[in-house]
Amino acid sequence: MKGMYPMLSVEEALEKVLRAFHPLEPEEVDILDSLGRVLAEDVYADLNIPPLDNTAMDGYAVRAEDTKGASPQNPRRLRIIYELAAGYVSEKAVEPGTAIRIMTGAPIPPGADAVVRFEYTRREGDWVYIFREVEPGKEIRRAGEDVRKGELKLRWGTVIRPAEVGMLAALGKRRVKVIRRPRVAILATGDELVDVDETPGLGKIRNTNSYSNAAQVIKYGGIPIMLGIARDRKEELSAKIKEGIERGADLILTSGGVSVGDFDVVKEVLAAEGEMSFWRVRMKPGKPLAFGHIAGVPLLGLPGNPVSVMVSFEIFARPAILKMQGRTKLDKPTVEAVLLDGIEEKDERRHYVRVIMERKGGEWYARLTGAQGSGILTSMVKANGLAIIPEDWSRVKPGTKVKVMMLDWPEEMA
Ligand code: AMP
Ligand code: MG
Repeated sequence: MKGMYPMLSVEEALEKVLRAFHPLEPEEVDILDSLGRVLAEDVYADLNIPPLDNTAMDGYAVRAEDTKGASPQNPRRLRIIYELAAGYVSEKAVEPGTAIRIMTGAPIPPGADAVVRFEYTRREGDWVYIFREVEPGKEIRRAGEDVRKGELKLRWGTVIRPAEVGMLAALGKRRVKVIRRPRVAILATGDELVDVDETPGLGKIRNTNSYSNAAQVIKYGGIPIMLGIARDRKEELSAKIKEGIERGADLILTSGGVSVGDFDVVKEVLAAEGEMSFWRVRMKPGKPLAFGHIAGVPLLGLPGNPVSVMVSFEIFARPAILKMQGRTKLDKPTVEAVLLDGIEEKDERRHYVRVIMERKGGEWYARLTGAQGSGILTSMVKANGLAIIPEDWSRVKPGTKVKVMMLDWPEEMA
């Protein structure tokens, strides 16, 4: 099997994976469920916002010319003829020599062309003294200055954040068309595995990959389908994969069973019952990775080691899951950092080294999380970045500048 499947570079493998994924169909959801999703319709404004010219301040609606020359020493006196709260329209017009007391958001009454805010006035009974001259238009928010009726306000493809949710509400959208979330089936393989609520017997370990992977699926907007554990037998693996397909998986993630051991059955099942596109990627951790389709459903055979499976997920599953959601920016953000620790020995694969990122004086610094073995999940628990060490480096001196893929931003983690 080795000869038929040359080891690919990360780029070659990623290209093959991403080619197999496309944005899923739209679905209609409640406005609050649209957060974080990609808009699958163009949203036009059904009205002007604000609907009418209105005041930006609490104050007095006046005719600007009635304030000419006003100052604290030489105030203008106007008669208060009406009071107006937001949500109502004035029954009276502002005539020369009069003013209407008006609260933020209330429509500008007829006759008025400016608002003098309370700070520049003093009230005495039915009269108000104006201490400042205002230009026409002062403190007035114009009808339609935010949103114009008929305008295309939110475009197909927009990622919906809280601000877009607010705009959808302003435009009366109780239901919103968004790209549906991908359903991602997660299957662990291995005779040695027991579930999270069991005490492992001799030689057994708890299934960690299904949970870390499911959490990653959720983090990036997918819906995990938990298929549990398959023993290292082809029939059991096939049956579980079939279950995933029947439960509507858009992507199947397996972990383990893709290496060169005697019981690594994932790639055999993939090759026998579907088609395998590639196997093995020139990276560390994460070399044993298989990709293909079974019954038309893409399957990523992730490695078994708890670190490898998470790193491979970040590099391959994450962008696939984002692409299915209609996202177009698929790369994890990277920053340049000074690697404070050296790496003595390195093979010809691209290494993704777990690091703790810290920013000091505008510069990023990366420290290794400690032992980097692909079974040492602690290295992921401590990490907030993956330093990318290129294929053609054989060792790395402390102080070398490296690119780091950010997993989480330290500024947001406490
Ligand atoms: P494999 O590629 O199946 O030989 O797995 C490689 C290593 O990862 C072995 O030490 C397995 O015991 C371990 N492993 C595989 N699957 C899991 C899992 N779901 N949770 C924890 N460790 C696992
Ligand atoms: Mg195994």
